[in-house]
Amino acid sequence: MYLIFTILFLSGTLFIASPTLAAVKIEYLPPSPTQQIEHQWLTQQPINALFTSLSDDHFRFSQAVTLQYGSDDGPLYDPEHHQIQIPYEFISHTRSALSQLDDGADFDSQQAAVDSLLHTLLHEAGHAFIVDQDIAILGKEEDAADHFAAIIMLNYLPQGDIALLNAGNLFALESEQKPQFYDFGEYMIPIVIRK
Ligand SMILES: [Zn+2]
Repeated sequence: MYLIFTILFLSGTLFIASPTLAAVKIEYLPPSPTQQIEHQWLTQQPINALFTSLSDDHFRFSQAVTLQYGSDDGPLYDPEHHQIQIPYEFISHTRSALSQLDDGADFDSQQAAVDSLLHTLLHEAGHAFIVDQDIAILGKEEDAADHFAAIIMLNYLPQGDIALLNAGNLFALESEQKPQFYDFGEYMIPIVIRK
């Protein structure tokens, strides 16, 4: 079934646009004083517009999914509330970790942070879409969610290949340290793991 899911996904069969299907709702929990910077950064980036646009065009949900920033746990998808949860601390961790790679030349850590967050949102959206559409997954759901994110980025995001590699930098960094937010059984980008 996973193969069927992939084939349907690649062929675009799943993306039947309908004005009646629900959208993504964005919600910010009130940031603490130390979280203000991340809250402000999020509102200044194109990340939510990109994410909702990709969902509108390629993976519309039957039930509106909420993207909630400021949760205590996560990144995760909560099927009970059909909610993607992203802690502000994850944003600061991502920005801080990627800034270590900023050489002032070829690598843009700000863009890499946007790309990494977008990959995380799409990975969680993969979980949400599987539940929303009641898609049977016989293999590892984490792999399916990763493939979902990679396929969307590679096919529908301008310079998605570069964005995916940028996101991979975060995983490469995390693999060198004790992961704070990622269980590596869950989050893997094959092109990075295999290089
Ligand atoms: Zn996952």
